[in-house]
Amino acid sequence: MEIEFGRIEDSIAQFTLSGASEAFANALRRAMIGEVPTLAIDNIRIYDNTSVLFDEMLAHRLGMVPIKTDLAKFARKDACRCEGAGCPICQVTFTITAEGPKTVVSGDLVSDDALTTPVDPGIPIVKLWEDQKVVIEAVAYLNNGTEHAKWQPTVACGYKEYPVIDINDRCDGCGMCVEECPRGVLEVKGRVVRVVDGRLEACSLCRLCEKACIATGIGDDSAIQAGADSTKFLFIIETDGSLSAQQIIEEGLRYIRTRSDTLIEALHEISMEGL
Ligand code: SF4
Ligand code: SF4
Ligand SMILES: [Zn+2]
Repeated sequence: MEIEFGRIEDSIAQFTLSGASEAFANALRRAMIGEVPTLAIDNIRIYDNTSVLFDEMLAHRLGMVPIKTDLAKFARKDACRCEGAGCPICQVTFTITAEGPKTVVSGDLVSDDALTTPVDPGIPIVKLWEDQKVVIEAVAYLNNGTEHAKWQPTVACGYKEYPVIDINDRCDGCGMCVEECPRGVLEVKGRVVRVVDGRLEACSLCRLCEKACIATGIGDDSAIQAGADSTKFLFIIETDGSLSAQQIIEEGLRYIRTRSDTLIEALHEISMEGL
């Protein structure tokens, strides 16, 4: 199994996974979305709210604010040494005190941990008019996306099978498939069609090129075939900023390895019991 990065930035990564099954690719996708923990606001005390929004709506909006998460520093509440009582290792408390006229934004959340703040300070929470007020205390915990979408570290995470385009010697270079391709993947060169350098990964496997070729009257089989390599996958992930793209990939892979080890241990115990 091999991973090759085409692009890796703080909030976005594109990579190919080769020598893997579709089941493994999907397990990795699901692990990155649902099993990599982040911080999100989950417990809210509203002391005053005379804004136009219901308390529940305010709580929902605050819960969806992405928060910078240092996984080396925080632990899940159920695994913390405070045994669920709440401490700086398993929770971060934010407060907002605001009075209109003003638009309350995520940057108005005052954290009790200077390094743990909203990813973007400009996310609007509620607009306050003259004499309207909110006074809120909000506590963020570490949890997983399988519990609630607010704990998902990705805003986009998906893959597709790696495209494979075959062109056989029946191609006469008429160029009909080039005109039909919506992704600019094909070109005619030297009286035959070929894939434009660097454009193969843009292919969406729509197969319009095959239909265009058949429409030229070439017969039932087109001279071009658009298929997929079922052992190679093209991933793209985009984060909400709570974790870096690299951390999400590493943590997703670590989760799969840990679960696999647990399964092997369980199987080993079962086989030992049978002796
Ligand atoms: S399958 Fe679609 S995107 Fe891919 S080369 Fe053919 S027409 Fe273009
Ligand atoms: S439509 Fe068929 S014959 Fe014409 S260039 Fe494309 S593959 Fe070749
Ligand atoms: Zn704790």
